[in-house]
Amino acid sequence: MRVSDYFLPTLKDNPSDAQIASHRLMLRAGLIRQMASGIYSWLPLGLKVLKNIENIIRSELEKSGAVEILMPTIQPADLWRESGRYDAYGPEMLRMKDRHNRDMLYGPTNEEMITDIFRGTVRSYKKLPHILYHMQWKFRDEIRPRFGVMRGREFLMKDAYSFDIDEEKARYSYQKMMVTYLRIFARLGLTAIPMRAETGPIGGDLSHEFHVLAPTGESAVYFDRAFYNIKSLYDENPEFDHIESVYKEVTKYYATADEQYDEDEFFSRVSEENRVIGRGIEIGHIFYLGTKYSSAMDAIVIAPDSQEVPVHMGCYGIGVSRMVGALIEASHDEKGIIWHKDIAPFHIGLINLRQGNEATDAACEKLYQACINAGLTVLYHDTDDRAGAKFADIDLTGLPYQLIVGPKGAEQNMAEVKIRATNEKREISVDNVVDILRGEIL
Ligand code: ATP
Ligand code: MG
Repeated sequence: MRVSDYFLPTLKDNPSDAQIASHRLMLRAGLIRQMASGIYSWLPLGLKVLKNIENIIRSELEKSGAVEILMPTIQPADLWRESGRYDAYGPEMLRMKDRHNRDMLYGPTNEEMITDIFRGTVRSYKKLPHILYHMQWKFRDEIRPRFGVMRGREFLMKDAYSFDIDEEKARYSYQKMMVTYLRIFARLGLTAIPMRAETGPIGGDLSHEFHVLAPTGESAVYFDRAFYNIKSLYDENPEFDHIESVYKEVTKYYATADEQYDEDEFFSRVSEENRVIGRGIEIGHIFYLGTKYSSAMDAIVIAPDSQEVPVHMGCYGIGVSRMVGALIEASHDEKGIIWHKDIAPFHIGLINLRQGNEATDAACEKLYQACINAGLTVLYHDTDDRAGAKFADIDLTGLPYQLIVGPKGAEQNMAEVKIRATNEKREISVDNVVDILRGEIL
């Protein structure tokens, strides 16, 4: 993509209303534009990042056997009357009427709807287990939308739902999703810590929130540093062997957030040098629901002993749009965002230092085409802007590799490669540089 053809509304100055780095940088780098309080348009760079995150989540979920569907944003109130949540949910739910005066709502979550899909389809234990998921926009009329996409009113969530014949099997699904989540977050370049959580209005009796550490996080978190030493357990175990033992290991260390915190327990279970007290961003949340929805909504299956029983469910959420903010909180500097190569909107920012200089333009064109042919994504800064402005743009947008060509380099057939994260610079021949980059990036 050429910047001259692209829609890249970067801002030089910090927007005055943005309080945290990720919000400032998302506005400045032209990822989002606010439309109303807590409601955003996703501009080209932001949308690419969102899609890259979706794809990483999708590929790990598919490995775990989860199956993608898509449920609507608008739901009939009657489903929520069946579960009893229509009255219980409160003002966070956006309610509306259609032209026939039927009560409708913009979904804040999808337990009722998925239960309705399930009960109309599955009747026997022989068809179980199932894990179904979708990625869909949610609306919650948050009392204090803030921090940009971190606490929006409209936000993108990945929500998965599991169905099993009994509690033991449902717990296995829960454990499998726990391990899948840890793998997803690791692939996104994050260490997310599963913390014992309250089940809240959704109900059930087993729940974990996943938090990433950040000084701007909304939750107070308390955990055992030992968790950091076990990454290889879930990261290098792609065949999902030994789910139960991995689960046991990753949940054995003390880790809780906010009201769940118990100082006596923390102090007695965690040695002084291992105690971490900090702030966390909740990027995911998993629940074992038991039969809360299936009992209320008659999602009944025939068990092996021919009895009719309500199906056991779990639900599993990831804040996909919040993740964009969380990733930036975890990885930025004073110049801008620093993306991990698998999430970046483009792998490479190609900077032409002297647009209009024949040799420089020719070298850049050659590199641009070669990158595309090699399967690399590249944003070619081909405008008449000063070199300084181009560097500022590409640093701000956080592309992991910069490929820089000026008149002198072009004459000597050399390009400069800069790694955004480390500032490391190399001079490489124009003839070899794309092969080398392909080796490092793909
Ligand atoms: P929070 O405690 O942050 O309000 P929640 O516990 O109400 O979140 P869940 O129902 O667990 O949220 O939703 C699943 C995930 O969706 C959360 O872990 C979070 O990452 C994301 N999420 C929830 N509310 C918002 C929001 N207002 N804006 C962006 N993401 C959100
Ligand atoms: Mg939650």
